[in-house]
Amino acid sequence: MCGIVAYIGKRQAYPIIVKGLQRLEYRGYDSAGVALLHQGQMNIYKKAGKVTDLIKFAEGKELNGNIGMGHTRWATHGEPNDRNAHPHWSESTIFSIIHNGIIENYAALKEALKSKGHTFTSDTDTEVLIHFIEDIYYAEKVSLEEAVRLALGEIVGAYAIVILSKQDPHKLIAARRASPIVVGVGTDEFFVASDASPIVEYTKNVVYLNDNEIALIDNGKLTVKTIENQVKTPYIQELELQLEAIEKGGYDHFMLKEIYEQPRSIWDSMRGRLDAKTGHLRMGGIAEFEGKFANAKRIIICACGTSWHAGLVAEYLLEDLCRIPVEVEYASEFRYRNPVLFEDDVVIAISQSGETADTLAAIELAKQKGATIFGVCNVVGASIPRATHAGAYTHAGPEIGVASTKAFTAQVAVLTLIALQIAQKKGTITETRFRTLLTELEAIPAKVEAVLKQNDAIKELAARYVDSNNALYLGRGYGFPVALEGALKLKEISYIHAEGYPAAEMKHGPIALIDDAMPVVVIATKGANFEKVVSNIQEVKARKGRIIAIVTEGDKEVRTMADHVIEIPETDDILVPLVSVIPLQLFSYHIAVMRGCNVDQPRNLAKSVTVE
Ligand code: GLU
Repeated sequence: MCGIVAYIGKRQAYPIIVKGLQRLEYRGYDSAGVALLHQGQMNIYKKAGKVTDLIKFAEGKELNGNIGMGHTRWATHGEPNDRNAHPHWSESTIFSIIHNGIIENYAALKEALKSKGHTFTSDTDTEVLIHFIEDIYYAEKVSLEEAVRLALGEIVGAYAIVILSKQDPHKLIAARRASPIVVGVGTDEFFVASDASPIVEYTKNVVYLNDNEIALIDNGKLTVKTIENQVKTPYIQELELQLEAIEKGGYDHFMLKEIYEQPRSIWDSMRGRLDAKTGHLRMGGIAEFEGKFANAKRIIICACGTSWHAGLVAEYLLEDLCRIPVEVEYASEFRYRNPVLFEDDVVIAISQSGETADTLAAIELAKQKGATIFGVCNVVGASIPRATHAGAYTHAGPEIGVASTKAFTAQVAVLTLIALQIAQKKGTITETRFRTLLTELEAIPAKVEAVLKQNDAIKELAARYVDSNNALYLGRGYGFPVALEGALKLKEISYIHAEGYPAAEMKHGPIALIDDAMPVVVIATKGANFEKVVSNIQEVKARKGRIIAIVTEGDKEVRTMADHVIEIPETDDILVPLVSVIPLQLFSYHIAVMRGCNVDQPRNLAKSVTVE
């Protein structure tokens, strides 16, 4: 699920690999390792902890070699320790492997290999795979690439792998199923990585491997074939990614940079798609499927984590504006529930990375049942956009901080555009309201900018609550998904236990938690539910909870009841999530920094969740 970088060419591999692993650090990981081929030797160094721990450990050791591979591991099988870190050796220590993903049938394979005399030095599923490949290599007397192909035919599970051989210092093999692999094609050199960020500074020419494809780079030549032994012509694409986009640009953390990028990224997600002056709105991706959407009896939204919260906003939007019933599903529950799906259902899959394993599997299931699948993803060329019938990219640019910020607001912006376009097609929105909303949408980036200007005040507020053990986030209507997202941000990066709740549900349970030490963050902006939220604030106040209210500029009412208020510029009720989430992101960020947490790489979390 985490990082892979490999190099084969004329340069020294180690510096390229280590730098690449650092570029991939944002994905979250718990250990790191490298393998380098030099003068018939394969040197492997690996260490639990960060890439810097690995660098320290490798200092003074043999680091030469023009071919090598590196890995950051996010443990699934076996503790995150030195022994379980990748690369892993085959039985004879001729071959080594790095792997992202999970080999589901590893236990049976391991038993069979043990009975043949194989011994294992780690608890990982990965080590079993390279032993299995070697077993086939000797038993079938075939080339390494053929042994890999035969072995992968027997594998159940997900993988992105790279394999090196001591006997073949000109050869590198990579393969993928449900976990991404990108091959960078330079002049007489190749790069392999789990996304384009380690590659972009060397070459813009890349080949994305498809599922069940194996890439062989041998003596300066790249060939791709499928597990079924079908030779494929590699399709070389040009990367649009810019190097600056994946660097911190003067901010202390990627997360802060990404929070501050939101006026721009929200605009980018709408750019070219809407023009309020002319009343023009065109989501190219859905043009062909507009009729499907408009006639859908139901829309099912599948997502995980923050994307699920964006999906919840979309539920309110689509029901409100388009009068289509919507269900928002956790992809992991949906796929295993034997769900009822009809051919006229439209499924919207939302994922920042476009690689989320559960969402991908949910799509496959819905596709089999004949539904139309629409993707809303950020990473161009990822697996989900390739698996869907149509879709819209969010164009938020690379999001490196593990806790999602700008990807969330871009998802919400794109989903708003989709809802508006369908509503117009269906005639469930008046021209005046449509026009008003387009104008309001265009004004959102400036309103986000205005909230960002309050950073210092939000930081001061964060300082008061830095020692909290718990927090409650409340909202109603469009404020409810924002409350969920605010709570998730806080727990993800500061490790404070936080719950998001529909404000009225509070009295059915969480109210029992409220005392004078409990911060209660309430989305109390002007809108349909304002008076109701005010009553809920009173209920919290009566129990001495500490109220932090997000209110509309100029509010007088909530100010008299709340301990603290953060004002946000007024906007239409349905667009409030785009603006009200910003102070919550900043609040979590500052608390996490003050608590000394690793904001960009919170413990136990990974950016692109490619395991189920
Ligand atoms: N399943 C493998 C392990 O636990 C790979 C995990 C990863 O994707 O980093 O070592």
